[in-house]
Amino acid sequence: MELTSTIFGGKKLIYNGYIYIKDKDSNHSTYWRCEKRGLCNSRMITSRINGFVKKSPLNHNHQPDFASVEAVKTIEAIKLRSTLTEEVTSSVTQNATSSISIAATVKLPTKECLSKIVRRKRKLSDIDFYESIHTTRG
Ligand SMILES: [Zn+2]
Repeated sequence: MELTSTIFGGKKLIYNGYIYIKDKDSNHSTYWRCEKRGLCNSRMITSRINGFVKKSPLNHNHQPDFASVEAVKTIEAIKLRSTLTEEVTSSVTQNATSSISIAATVKLPTKECLSKIVRRKRKLSDIDFYESIHTTRG
């Protein structure tokens, strides 16, 4: 099970080749629904305490989409690299996308969108940094 944040600041879960989108949190559980909502009713529940699966998903009415999973992972790799390195934007996206499959490339947003993700992620981590300094000073 892999937990990954989405481009839009929500959360996505990758589980057995299927992608789930966070539906809601309760006190102890997180509720997920298949990303193909409207077409597929599969849902699952994970524990917010230890991340374990509390309720396994029902069967999906479609095949797992490994290309989409790869695309989601690539975007996560770009986000991570954005915050950990000071490489120029184009080399961050190039490094992350150079070795992925053609099928996954098709699922990725445009180059311009990927660059925006890098810039936005860097901006956000600046804010985090600023706020943590601010909080420490009281
Ligand atoms: Zn499904």
